[in-house]
Amino acid sequence: MHLDLKPLTQCKILIVDDDEIIRFSLQAIMEDYFEVETQAMGLQALDYCKSNIPDLILLDVNLPDISGLDVCRALKQNILFEHVPIVFITATYDTDSQNACWEAGAADFIGKPVIASTLIHRTTNHVENKLRLEVLMDLTYKDSLTGLYNRHYLEKEVCNSLKQSERDKKPFSVLMIDIDHFKLYNDHYGHLQGDICLKQIADVFANTLKRPHDVTIRFGGEEFLIVLPYTDIKGMTHVCKQIILQINESNIEHSQSSIGHVTVSIGGVTSQKQSTMGLNKLISLADEELYCAKRDGRNCYKLQVV
Ligand code: GH3
Ligand code: MG
Ligand code: MG
Repeated sequence: MHLDLKPLTQCKILIVDDDEIIRFSLQAIMEDYFEVETQAMGLQALDYCKSNIPDLILLDVNLPDISGLDVCRALKQNILFEHVPIVFITATYDTDSQNACWEAGAADFIGKPVIASTLIHRTTNHVENKLRLEVLMDLTYKDSLTGLYNRHYLEKEVCNSLKQSERDKKPFSVLMIDIDHFKLYNDHYGHLQGDICLKQIADVFANTLKRPHDVTIRFGGEEFLIVLPYTDIKGMTHVCKQIILQINESNIEHSQSSIGHVTVSIGGVTSQKQSTMGLNKLISLADEELYCAKRDGRNCYKLQVV
């Protein structure tokens, strides 16, 4: 089966090395093939990775502030970096040093002095494997119509994210969103246009949610679940307001609804930091709130804290 992979020239490589000459020479070799960013220090690299997810990281073991091994361990604890290959550049080959790299979560290591063709072949292999894995994960965990995550993802991954929030004693919010009078929409405009509308609504969610841990799932036909880890009632309220506003502003015609355009209703629940409620319970509470929003006239949100 042929998989459509992103071109290597659009893949981001982060090079972390405090030695300016090495940094520049690695960059010069790599930038004919990839998009390259560089950082000189370990902490700077961690900071950069808060808002960027490279496709591969080339990491010096010995950095002056924190060691490359610490950088690697920190990144590998973050689920967003689970599949990002980290390749160490090292001058020490003894068994203990090699084992330390593997144990920190390295995908590979390349010895200094670096041979350009080996560097390119190794990194290309790792990046292509990562891209293949991402495509296969999308096929397994995403809904083909909207591009949002599916129920399978909810069962596999979101439970872990809730447990992590509970371990960190942080709040965790869940929203259940349902399109208003969508049966009337389909009956009037047809199912194909209904599908286009579902895609437009999904795009609004994607544009509204800004944090990397937020997840949107197509829960049922015209029902969506949004999971907001590390988010309290204040944050959840902000997200609800934005979604209602953005959907109203997208002004998708719905002549069969009294408002004249497509709207959604939202039910939400925030589990506070001490709560250890299971995901199914949170979903059913959000669902109860959704019914309150429907009863209250639709195009609104109802929330509770547990
Ligand atoms: P309410 O405001 O109470 O939510 O009313 P509603 O009409 O939206 O709710 P109802 O559950 O009666 O109807 C949901 C409709 O969603 C039924 C079906 O026509 C439509 N639907 C579900 N899945 C899909 C889909 O994949 N594509 C399209 N086009 N429509 C779908
Ligand atoms: Mg429904
Ligand atoms: Mg509906």
